[in-house]
Amino acid sequence: MTRTSQVVVIGGGQAGLAAGYHLRRLGLDFAILDAQTTPGGAWQHAWDSLHLFSPAAYSSLPGRLMPAQTGQTYPDAEHVVEYLTDYEKRYELPVERSVRVIGVHRDGACLRVETDSGTWQARAVISATGTWWRPFLPAVPGRAVFEGRQLHTVAYTRPQDFAGRRVVVVGGGNSGAQIAADLAHDTQLTWVTQRPPRLLADHIDGRALFDAATARRRALDAGHTDTGGVTSLGDIVAVPPVREARDRGLLTARPMFSRLHPAGVEWADGTRAEADAIIWCTGFRPTLSHLAPLQLRGPRGHIATTGTRAVGEPRLHLLGYGDWTGPASATLIGVGRPAREATLEIADLVA
Ligand code: FAD
Repeated sequence: MTRTSQVVVIGGGQAGLAAGYHLRRLGLDFAILDAQTTPGGAWQHAWDSLHLFSPAAYSSLPGRLMPAQTGQTYPDAEHVVEYLTDYEKRYELPVERSVRVIGVHRDGACLRVETDSGTWQARAVISATGTWWRPFLPAVPGRAVFEGRQLHTVAYTRPQDFAGRRVVVVGGGNSGAQIAADLAHDTQLTWVTQRPPRLLADHIDGRALFDAATARRRALDAGHTDTGGVTSLGDIVAVPPVREARDRGLLTARPMFSRLHPAGVEWADGTRAEADAIIWCTGFRPTLSHLAPLQLRGPRGHIATTGTRAVGEPRLHLLGYGDWTGPASATLIGVGRPAREATLEIADLVA
């Protein structure tokens, strides 16, 4: 049986919920399809010590402030899951769970959304499937010969799993720095980064980053020269555990090694470090395979967009993922604005 809806939103994480909030306000008929069994998107899978890099009020979706977490300036992932669960209920967002979208197809005046449990027809589709589900590992020679454990950020849970072990953490972004800080106390840690790690000044957290991203967008819109925005300030937010490990001298990085050998890693000059485990904190790519039937992907794997609208398919919007779908649109506080713009365009389209 085929079900119909004016709009189908694919993904019930924060981006999908922000879209749902605005679709509800606009009075559109919509469904949100989500592959997870429970609310919270990727936040359900974060490692134990992960905390937001902004205070609660600066991590809010449209309509409802995230409440502060008792005793924590920077809420943890569990608190975010509770907030998203409550948000979904409060706005009565129609999320259908354990539904995985397999493919989106053109079908006359509609888009046909094929899932693992039925088919939907919609006048417009919002894809909000995030990046967590497509971890990226670089092609480093010898990856197949290393005899220890290799895992990506997505599979890391807690330092106790590595106590006393020799661990190499690869990556100079926030995940790499936070996981290195997590492991710095009880493991023999080697932290490896492509270029020297650039910690932001201690007073700069997600609030300042969001303000800087917004100021940059305004400057670009006004035709001023691009100053590089937040990336000119640094890469790593010095959240309290990172600061503490840094201050104790536990967080010094080595440059990237050139290959793996069966017992560890080796640098270009022949020096080696033995390892029981390598944790690849090397980022993510957008989860877009369900859009493959539309044949929209450009040379670098992204889909070209104007705002959030796919250039090659005006009935499709992309939300979240990264700055290419709107400034800070992959963050809790930043996704509200592009969600609003996407749903307004869709309201015009289906009118
Ligand atoms: P997700 O949370 O990944 O939700 C996407 C949903 O779509 C999931 O439920 C998934 O199961 C579902 N899905 C995927 N494919 C399909 C399919 N084919 N069919 C149906 N459903 C599908 N942001 C902040 O604002 N503050 C922070 O402090 C912060 N810290 C971060 C720390 C880390 C380590 C990372 C990785 C990100 C962080 N972010 C932070 C960024 C961002 O807020 C999160 O990545 C967030 O989870 C993105 O939300 P989303 O809704 O775009 O994607």
